[in-house]
Amino acid sequence: MPDKLIIEVRSNEWAMRNLNPNVPYSPQEIADDAIACANAGASVIHYHARNPSTGERSTSLSHYADTVRLIKERNKDLIIMPTLGMGTLSERAQRIDHIVKMAPDPMTRPELAPIDLITCNLDRYLPASRMFETRNAVFENTPATWVYFADTMTSVGVKPALIIWDVNSLRAAQALLEMGQINSPVWCELVLAEGGLLAGHPGTVKGLEAFLDFFPAGPGWSWSVLSSRCNLLPVAAAAMERGGHVSIGLGDYHYPELGTPTNATIVERIVRLARDMGREIATASEARRVMRL
Ligand code: ZN
Repeated sequence: MPDKLIIEVRSNEWAMRNLNPNVPYSPQEIADDAIACANAGASVIHYHARNPSTGERSTSLSHYADTVRLIKERNKDLIIMPTLGMGTLSERAQRIDHIVKMAPDPMTRPELAPIDLITCNLDRYLPASRMFETRNAVFENTPATWVYFADTMTSVGVKPALIIWDVNSLRAAQALLEMGQINSPVWCELVLAEGGLLAGHPGTVKGLEAFLDFFPAGPGWSWSVLSSRCNLLPVAAAAMERGGHVSIGLGDYHYPELGTPTNATIVERIVRLARDMGREIATASEARRVMRL
C-alpha cells in the first residue's frame, strides 16, 4: 500500500493574473487561498512573497511572515513552505534570511524550505521569435550553497525539501544524505517543465519515468511531482499509480482546461482523481509523519 497522497499547493510562484485572475498576491490572499486548499485536501502550501498590489516579486520579511501568521491563526496544522529568495537575491545568506528570522516564532515558523540541487539555465526558448528570452538566466546553486542551506535550515529546525531538476540532482541528494547534511526520510520534488523552459524534464509521463529510473529505492525516500507551464493532471495520475505525491497550483500553470480555477478547485480535482484511483488523501498530520517533521 502506498502512503496516503500528499497534496502540495504551489500557490503563486511568479505567475501574474493575466492568464488567471485567481493567483494570490498579498499575504491575506495567499492565506485565504491556503485555507481553502487545506479544506479541499491539501496538506502542504508553498508560496512566494509578492507585492500585494502589483504582484511583483517581493523580498519583504513582513510579506513572508504575515502570510504564515495569517494561515496559522486559522489552521495550525497545514505544513508551510515559503520559497527562498531565488531570482530576487544573489547572496546565499540573503536568500535564506527570512527563513532564519521566521523560525524562532511558532506563529511564523515554516516547517519546510526548498533547496534546488542544480545550477542551470532558467531561460526560455521562444519558438515564435526563434530566440532565447534573456540569454542569461543562470540559476546558480553550487554544492557550497546546498551545504550552507542544509546547515542553516537544520540549525533553525526547518526541513529541506529537495528540488530535483534532473537525474543529477538525485545524485546530489544521495551525496548530501551520505554526508549527513540531510536526514532520512528525504522529501524530493521532481521538476517537469514545458513552455520553452530549458530546465527540468519534459512534462510527460516519460519525463517522470526518467526520474524514477534513477530514484533511490527504500523507505527513506519520498517524491512528489510538479510541472511548470503545463497541465500536471495526466502525469499526476501516473504519479499516484506509482506511489508518488502531487505538487500543483496556479503558480505553475493557469489550468484553462478547468475554466478559470482557483487553487482549491485544482486541489478538489486532484482529490477526486485520487479517490477514483483508490488512493487515500493524507491529512497534514499524516504528511508530517511521512516527512518526519
Ligand atoms: Zn516556488
